[in-house]
Amino acid sequence: MRRVIAGAFRPITRQWNRWNPGTRILMYHRVTDLDQYDQLTVSPKRFDDQLRGLKSSHRVVALKDAFSFDENSVVITFDDGYLDNYLEAAPLLQKYGLPATIYLTADFVDQKASHRRYKGSERLHMDWLEVSDLAASGLINFGSHTCTHPMLSELKSADSKREIIDSKMRLEDKLGTSVSSFAYPNGNYGQREVDYVEEAGYVHAVTVKPGVNRGNSELLQLRRTEVTDRDEPKEFAAKLDGALDPVHLVLDMKREWQFERRRNNSVETQT
Ligand SMILES: [Zn+2]
Repeated sequence: MRRVIAGAFRPITRQWNRWNPGTRILMYHRVTDLDQYDQLTVSPKRFDDQLRGLKSSHRVVALKDAFSFDENSVVITFDDGYLDNYLEAAPLLQKYGLPATIYLTADFVDQKASHRRYKGSERLHMDWLEVSDLAASGLINFGSHTCTHPMLSELKSADSKREIIDSKMRLEDKLGTSVSSFAYPNGNYGQREVDYVEEAGYVHAVTVKPGVNRGNSELLQLRRTEVTDRDEPKEFAAKLDGALDPVHLVLDMKREWQFERRRNNSVETQT
């Protein structure tokens, strides 16, 4: 089904993108081999294929170099700071010389907590030594993904603000450089969070809203395109041309609606 839709939209979106150049920010989470399909995990083999395709077809830039969004380029990002990013993804990024940004949750790097999605006894996230190792490579930049990975919009104002500001300070303290980029956990945020992100001094922030970023995009609400293990070379190329953006927009509206319903339910139970 996805293939049919992608095939139908691709000629239109490709032409549209030629007339309206912009920056597509790719969103990855894990790069490893799992026993079963996981929407947030891409196998190392698939990731290798995708990077090879990207290298030959697109200009890949670091997020910090993509500010103007005035020509076609691609940015690679990872959320949550998984150990497999260090073990599997980073060597492949090195192989192709492609830059990326990894968004770290401070408590995960401290090994005080880990992402709830994945169970097991093995260490799930990078530690600070591995983070500084990647930082030294020069290809990988780090951004903040809060202190504890909460649903920000469901927190009290003071707590939401602390997640956004303290995580920046903790990362900067460990990395010894300024941290200018932020990623909203679960793509969950409201205007309040955008204001805190600005107040904290971040230069840009990424969401999970689909589509391309152009000159008029809000720097604190940048769009991203999720990449999955199902993105074989042809489908990946179509995705880079925006052929799946219409489908993703519909799915995003559904997700927003579910967040809204969750918020309303929690208000009802509180009163
Ligand atoms: Zn996350």
